[in-house]
Amino acid sequence: MSVVLDKIRLHAKAHPNSVVYATLKQVAGGFENVQMTWSELDENSNRLAGYLTSRLKSKTPLLVCGHKDPLMLVAFLACVRSGRAYVPVDASTPAGRIGAIAATVEPELILNVEDMDGMPKSSAVLGSTEIRALCETAPRCDDSEQVSGEDIHYIIFTSGSTGLPKGVRITAKCLDNFLAWSQELAAGVTGKATGNRIFINQAPFSFDLSVFDLYTALYTGGTIQAIPTPLLGDMKALFAYLKSTWADIWVSTPSFADLLLADNAFDQDLLPNLRLFLFCGESLTGRTAQRLAAAFPKARITNTYGPTESTVAVTSVEVTPEMAAKNAVLPLGAEKTGTRILIMDEKGEVLPDGKKGEIVIVGDTVSPGYWKNAAKNAEVFGTYDADGRHERLYHTHDAGYRKDGLLYYCGRMDKQVKLHGYRIELEDIERNILAISGMERVVVIPERMNGEVKDLVAHIVENAPVQSAIKERQRIRGELKKRIPEYMIPRKFVFKDSLPITQNGKIDRKALENGDQC
Ligand code: AMP
Repeated sequence: MSVVLDKIRLHAKAHPNSVVYATLKQVAGGFENVQMTWSELDENSNRLAGYLTSRLKSKTPLLVCGHKDPLMLVAFLACVRSGRAYVPVDASTPAGRIGAIAATVEPELILNVEDMDGMPKSSAVLGSTEIRALCETAPRCDDSEQVSGEDIHYIIFTSGSTGLPKGVRITAKCLDNFLAWSQELAAGVTGKATGNRIFINQAPFSFDLSVFDLYTALYTGGTIQAIPTPLLGDMKALFAYLKSTWADIWVSTPSFADLLLADNAFDQDLLPNLRLFLFCGESLTGRTAQRLAAAFPKARITNTYGPTESTVAVTSVEVTPEMAAKNAVLPLGAEKTGTRILIMDEKGEVLPDGKKGEIVIVGDTVSPGYWKNAAKNAEVFGTYDADGRHERLYHTHDAGYRKDGLLYYCGRMDKQVKLHGYRIELEDIERNILAISGMERVVVIPERMNGEVKDLVAHIVENAPVQSAIKERQRIRGELKKRIPEYMIPRKFVFKDSLPITQNGKIDRKALENGDQC
């Protein structure tokens, strides 16, 4: 059974003509409003699912490529209604990366919703015109094959230290368990006397933060107002759009709120109904919370924490003014029902309150593991057996401690960073630079300010002297653009004759960077 899919059908029956999803679409010379009703979502995804059921031979996950077109949502639901997981691939993904994802997933079909370039030749591809036609003409399906329980609902690919992205599998049950909690966080939140709740979506669908707004809105019968990334290039248009949304609930990374807070117009007058900020994905600072509280006196602020591997988020805390004043970086909060957080030392022993160790997540939203990645699964996933129960467990490699019932974050124990909210394995960038001709040794170092990563710097040794640093930077950037998303490309490239080495012969990263957060 899938509670969320059942609820979506019920909402579509109850208010077919309400808007479920709205956004702006980039057209020549600007942006135009596009929207979709609940009945359109239900009808179109049902017919597209009917097509998939009747035409496809296997149940392989399908890639759904595009950005924020309403048809993306239709395609996601069509996959799961036909019993297939979907893999969201954002329009910003370069061809090399799409190829790597497709090679791992081996999808029988790719739904190229926004007609992106760089589709791999190995799979059949349907473009937007064909998909739209199928949404109108394909035979309906009866939903008897829809995903449920331990079936995979979606696979989100995140940066991997091997230079290839790894696919996090999230089951229908994990998603339902997450939503039972996320809808409580949003319960009762509205600036209006009546009516449905409007959620702001900031994150691309290939980032699991988007699951927070997208699915909590779908689960509760609300509306999603999605901000397309190109709109960030036109702040005036972005603010005009925000004003038009009448949003009740805001979901974003703290970085995005910081970006908007730089403009004094980001306040309660712009969004008079806004009553809740939900943050996840990176540290929320006391200063950001204080500035938001001053700009939005009617809104609550909630910090949440969790990795993609445990379905979006597993802890939350409502940020009080005292908490914001006292903490440079806010606590992560307490775990949701169904989740248990353990702080472990290197030997796997559970540590008492106050002691710093690794944050280990146990419970009902932990993924069954990465897609076809046995080695990595053995390293980070496991089971926790206690009280006669066998629950899934995930080693986050986040350092933290618990105090007075709240979890606190102390940075990463490995080479993963968050830059502007994006999760990046530094080794992923290094491997992709090393794959370019002429490279001998590479190390990518995060540059931090107040503990927060602000930039990435690649220190490179080439196997022949670099004649022109400017031309070489251009060449490397050009090559990287084909392989990794833009946000992963370092801002600075430093060419060196050698890199500092530790006593045991490894590259001395510490000599090139500065400290952790606790
Ligand atoms: P992602 O899978 O993209 O959601 O990234 C998960 C990682 O982001 C976690 O393992 C943490 O390192 C970091 N993270 C998520 N939420 C928070 C938070 N509220 N505060 C600090 N770091 C966070």
